[in-house]
Amino acid sequence: MTATAGRGPTGVPSTTAAAVAAAAELLATARDVTLVAHVQPDADSLGSALALGIVAARRGATVRVSFASPAQPPESLRPLDALGLLVAPEAVPAAPELLVMCDTAAPERLGSLADRLVTARSSLLIDHHASNPGFGDVRILDPSAEATVVLVHRLLAEMGAPVDRPVATCLYAGLVTDTVGFRTAGPAAHRMAAELLEAGVDVEAVLRPISDDHPFTWFDDLAGILHAATLDVTAAGGHGLVSAVVPAAVMGRHRVEEVDGVVDLLRTASEADVAAVLKQVGPRRWSVSMRSRTVDVATAAVTLGGGGHPRAAGVTLDGDPDEVLARLRAALTAAG
Ligand code: 5GP
Ligand code: MN
Repeated sequence: MTATAGRGPTGVPSTTAAAVAAAAELLATARDVTLVAHVQPDADSLGSALALGIVAARRGATVRVSFASPAQPPESLRPLDALGLLVAPEAVPAAPELLVMCDTAAPERLGSLADRLVTARSSLLIDHHASNPGFGDVRILDPSAEATVVLVHRLLAEMGAPVDRPVATCLYAGLVTDTVGFRTAGPAAHRMAAELLEAGVDVEAVLRPISDDHPFTWFDDLAGILHAATLDVTAAGGHGLVSAVVPAAVMGRHRVEEVDGVVDLLRTASEADVAAVLKQVGPRRWSVSMRSRTVDVATAAVTLGGGGHPRAAGVTLDGDPDEVLARLRAALTAAG
């Protein structure tokens, strides 16, 4: 078989530009579009799916946006769904016409919706995780993009779709959070942000619910979590690790907006390059969030079966907290 320009031997577009062009064609012809975010969706995943969903719906397609779990999206991200496109995973067709997977580093990150990758008539992946092996018929996969919304923004330009306030708000939410408040954003991402602001994004209205709005009752539990935090300056090859545990009882009392902020406080510890938060999601199961300044935590996470980015990664591990921390330390020593 001879590969056509921009296509690899398997027929999958082989450059980002070719993939963006192929994706625009898919979206231009699809009458029914299903967009999915990863489990425990964040602003980049849901913002990407909703921005594209809004555009596709306005073009007359039947559109739904979903994710496998939990049952409800984070409260702070609900305002992004300006057209009411979000549906429960049970409402996703058994064999979608076009499946668009946003910010999903591996098929397993789709949870119970991963089977739709097999049944969909065609599928489109849009992601920026370096650990992504690549899946789906068309793959916009670019680890140099600071966020998946950056790739969606490129796709919308290719489609000639106007970026108005509702679309811009979805894109901005993903951009500002995945770049940790533009700390990891390059010049092009800042130009994109400028365009989104010109489209009318209300920055405070987007950001305050996501990271700056906690009930007073959270402070007491947060104090307990920070009080029990531990510092190991010898970990991660001497770069240092600060860690904290959020027990299931505390998880049950608070929203994801509260719990996910813990790692952002821990990562400010001067003595540690790496911060890790163990969030209890089962009797012996922990969802681990890692952040770092220089150590490649993506490599450590992938070693343990998780994934993510060099400065922000995660993994789900079984055991008691000491066992989980020991496994983290071993993986970080190798990466440090
Ligand atoms: P967060 O700590 O914000 O939940 O996640 C940080 C990064 O790690 C994200 O890019 C996310 O995709 C990835 N990540 C978090 N938890 C897991 C996990 O359990 N498995 C995998 N494969 N990736 C994860
Ligand atoms: Mn992302």
